[in-house]
Amino acid sequence: MQTVLSEDQALIRESAQRFGADHGGGDRLRALRDGASGFDPEDLGDAGGDGWLALLAPESAGGAGLGALELCLVAEQAGRALATFPLVPAAAGVLALAEGGESFAELLAGAIAGEALIGPALQGDSRGDAAHPVGLTGGSGGDLKLSGRLMAVPAAANADGFIVDAGEGESRALVLVEADAPGLSAEAARNIDGSPLGVVSLGEVPVAEAAVLARGDAAALLRRRLDTVIQLGLSAELIGVMDAAQEMTNEYLKTRSQFGRTLSAFQALQHRAVDNFMLVESARALVFEAAGFSDRDDGHADWLASAAKAKAGPAVIEVCNSCIQLHGAIGFTDEHDIGLYLKRAMAVSALYGPPPAHLKRYTEHALSAHNDADAEIPHFRVDSDDEAAFRQDVRVWLEKALPERLRNLPTRPNAEDSMWWHKQLHGQGWVAPAWPKEWQGMNASLSEQIILADEMARIGAPEISAQAINHLGPILLRFGNDEQKKTHLPGMVSGDVLWCQGYSEPGAGSDLASLRTSGVIDGDHLVINGQKIWTTWGHLADWMFALVRTDPDAPKKQQGISFILVDMSTPGITARGIQTLPDEDEYAEVFLDDVRVPLKNIVGEMHKGWGVATALLANERAGSANPRINIQALRRIKEKARTNGAIEDPAFRERLMRAELEVLAISAAFAGIVATHQAERELGPDASYVKLLGTESEQRLADLMIEAYGSDGALLLPHKPEDGSFDAASNFLRARRSTIAGGTSEIQRNIIARRVLDLK
Ligand SMILES: Cc1cc2nc3c(=O)[nH]c(=O)nc-3n(C[C@H](O)[C@H](O)[C@H](O)COP(=O)(O)OP(=O)(O)OC[C@H]3O[C@@H](n4cnc5c(N)ncnc54)[C@H](O)[C@@H]3O)c2cc1C
Repeated sequence: MQTVLSEDQALIRESAQRFGADHGGGDRLRALRDGASGFDPEDLGDAGGDGWLALLAPESAGGAGLGALELCLVAEQAGRALATFPLVPAAAGVLALAEGGESFAELLAGAIAGEALIGPALQGDSRGDAAHPVGLTGGSGGDLKLSGRLMAVPAAANADGFIVDAGEGESRALVLVEADAPGLSAEAARNIDGSPLGVVSLGEVPVAEAAVLARGDAAALLRRRLDTVIQLGLSAELIGVMDAAQEMTNEYLKTRSQFGRTLSAFQALQHRAVDNFMLVESARALVFEAAGFSDRDDGHADWLASAAKAKAGPAVIEVCNSCIQLHGAIGFTDEHDIGLYLKRAMAVSALYGPPPAHLKRYTEHALSAHNDADAEIPHFRVDSDDEAAFRQDVRVWLEKALPERLRNLPTRPNAEDSMWWHKQLHGQGWVAPAWPKEWQGMNASLSEQIILADEMARIGAPEISAQAINHLGPILLRFGNDEQKKTHLPGMVSGDVLWCQGYSEPGAGSDLASLRTSGVIDGDHLVINGQKIWTTWGHLADWMFALVRTDPDAPKKQQGISFILVDMSTPGITARGIQTLPDEDEYAEVFLDDVRVPLKNIVGEMHKGWGVATALLANERAGSANPRINIQALRRIKEKARTNGAIEDPAFRERLMRAELEVLAISAAFAGIVATHQAERELGPDASYVKLLGTESEQRLADLMIEAYGSDGALLLPHKPEDGSFDAASNFLRARRSTIAGGTSEIQRNIIARRVLDLK
């Protein structure tokens, strides 16, 4: 999945990719690593020449006037290439100088050109979470003196100056300290990847008033901006590192043979590679959406940046570790480049606060008292005035229309309640947000669709059946003929006709294309015989859309299948309801004996139903990316943990916060998906990625909820939302479904392995 980029942003990424190819790579890195300083000033000069250091400075100061997203695009390529210069700290140094005003103009020009390296020196201790540890004595008018020690400063011994955050309250100041200032010493050290860093010691270093970049509140604000761009930029660099490492590993799997076949043919290794891919893509979604969002609304910027680092840090180590394992012994050598990625991952993760420090910062934000339910998970967007008005309308209407008993249900509502709610939404004109107006849809803008989903999640609205609105509707709109649309779309949208999906059979589950229910042409009818199973609401539905084999002699099993609409009252159909694990009236087995269905009910071409079916499955899987269930679950866990004190347990808090980061990533991925749809691109196998992401997190949240409930975790509680009770046990059981229905997690991994990663 890629963030949808503007033309300019795509160009930036392309040219950064070219730049990276010339200024990185394993051999170059080894040469520098084995040299005296680990740093070549020419690389920085070239980066300046290409404009990469000017990204964050305003145009009025000679910069490019761009934001964190553009920095991330470049930093990602720097990570991929194992770039040999500290791009992110240097670009942040430029930003700080640009904020300092006219008196820094000359130095700024040098820093933009890459002729001078001015790096932020902001880490006070090895945990990286001291806010501003440098002592500042003196006041305005008098001489300022700085004292303190700054750890892990990138390229400290090669820098021309440092941005230092010193003092407190009104006398807090962000100052520029030149490297040759009396009392300053920079002790050179090396990171594990060979890149230079060091400790900067300040012993009563005099600072002229003219070297103050910002003071008091302005200093705090500037520090916040620096922290934000640094963390986002480093996180993007980590994305590049892990992406390149997984790419290199997947190539290795495709070429190395053992047991008479390439490693890429082994499913155990394919699934490992997919798990790497999931880690890369979920971290990527969070980092890039956070960067884009922070450029639009910096109210959330700093804690989102910490979330990005807290997510990308552990992910990059896990991916690189896995990549080493997948290489076998060669991965443990210094000769192979894969180990360089692990070392770079370790080095970049540790800079400017390691991931646990950022998880701690994020936790402080997420659990702070002022943080109300609406603010907990960002939507990665800012409402315009019109959108805010629409949100308010939706909120007010939902409060009025949705009875308390249907809010926050632990399981799926029964058919009666679900269809009742469907009709209420229809009455309001909101049941089919994405459908065109011509068919009583909302033709809603992207923003309106997101707002509706957000507000439904906020109030805990029940699911409505997805079969008609999300699955069949879009298929009919795309593949159906006029008569089929006129006959079926109105009843689907009004909720007067209940639909079910007849795909699975006793012998055809994951291997759906081996289905055997047959359809034989007899005049202008198809005569259907066979059995469907696990058919949601098959015993209650009025109509079914089904797959039947109409050409048993077709050369491939995917060929010769037709997609047909079947009236469930047709003679020859019988259905038996099957209770689920959490005791829902969910699905049925459906028997079809000589069922005569008019040929005009075939959607698309005869024998070509497989293409229709798989397009529909992509819609179904993408639907499970909607983070609403996960956001609801997270909120409920927090509420429970606050009331019973579980939140005070540090071990539980950490698990909760890691789960929250996952939900943040899903929200970000969802925002990306909606944007992909907006650009009218097909989702294709990306649908499998979002299904895996959403459903596996849903299950982990259900597990965590049981933990939060403690000894009440196995109680069968009646649904009484008015007194705050919630049946966590049934919710836990229900969550088992999501990694099976709509195609199992294993099958999604197979699809991603083959179709996205090309591992066969
Ligand atoms: C709540 C619920 C609602 C459903 N609603 C509907 C519906 O409305 N309509 C409908 O048609 N179907 C429905 N289904 C069925 C669903 O699509 C199937 O259950 C699913 O596709 C898996 O098929 P199966 O159950 O036969 O499992 P199997 O295919 O038998 O799989 C068993 C196990 O083996 C694994 N496995 C199978 N093949 C492979 C492989 N090649 N590689 C690795 N692992 C593999 C699976 O991942 C799984 O873990 C529903 C299922 C559930 C749980």
